[in-house]
Amino acid sequence: MGSLRGKVALVTGASRGIGKAIALELSRDGASVIINYSKDDNGAELTLVEIIANGGSAKLLKGDISSFEKSKIIIDEAIKMFGKIDILVNNAGISQIGLFMDSSEEDIDAIIGTNLLGAMYLSKHVLPHMISKGCGNIVNISSMWGEVGASCEVLYSASKGGLNLFTKALAKEVALSGVRVNAIAPGVIETEMNSFLGEEERKALEEEIPMGRFGDAKEIGKAVSFLCDDNCKYLTGQIIRIDGGMI
Ligand code: NAP
Repeated sequence: MGSLRGKVALVTGASRGIGKAIALELSRDGASVIINYSKDDNGAELTLVEIIANGGSAKLLKGDISSFEKSKIIIDEAIKMFGKIDILVNNAGISQIGLFMDSSEEDIDAIIGTNLLGAMYLSKHVLPHMISKGCGNIVNISSMWGEVGASCEVLYSASKGGLNLFTKALAKEVALSGVRVNAIAPGVIETEMNSFLGEEERKALEEEIPMGRFGDAKEIGKAVSFLCDDNCKYLTGQIIRIDGGMI
């Protein structure tokens, strides 16, 4: 067990995909993990069972991060579970493919509400706790599309672009309080979020990636763990792109 021994991490959207991989990696490095999700009870239970089977420590915390009130309850409950939060990973996110002009008010609210506002709400609620301890790490899971924008993923790109600047600005504001804020901008990662791709679309996408393959969620988990390590104490306000060289 490693560099995060004694730390407590809250990982949102940890019932599957990238969030699950992050929860597993943080646990492997010694952190106690709080697994947040909003619907997928079975998936969250599987993340919990895997962590416990590996000798780690974890608890489940169901709750919708896109609500200001519910996100306050998530932070309060999480602090009660292990007595503190050292690491907040804002990973929960949703995507939608389609023309921007066809999007409904509900689509706009859902994507911005989950991907951008959810991260803001949780960060706002956890900051007094982290600042009073004089330390903490917030890691936002963004996307390469937040840097360059993607056609037919306009809302998603805007939510992640906002998350990138939220990361950079907040990092400056809280640096003297001992809290570090960084983001990871993944490229195409092998998860359910990309399960809509047909075989031909998938092949075409792989050909666009210099490394010739989709990323593994574990590769994102390892980067989150690295960012939260105290050996990285001088690293804040950065957007780390992990995309196999795609952009
Ligand atoms: P995924 O497999 O669809 O998993 C999304 C997770 O978020 C699930 O655990 C889901 O759990 C949770 N979630 C969704 N809405 C929530 C809410 N309102 N409150 C709490 N939890 C919520 O997606 P993924 O591919 O792992 O993506 C994870 C993150 O990485 C997202 O932010 C995504 O934008 C980003 N990302 C993904 C890729 C990729 O290629 N996969 C690339 C770049 C960035 P419930 O269903 O239980 O709510």
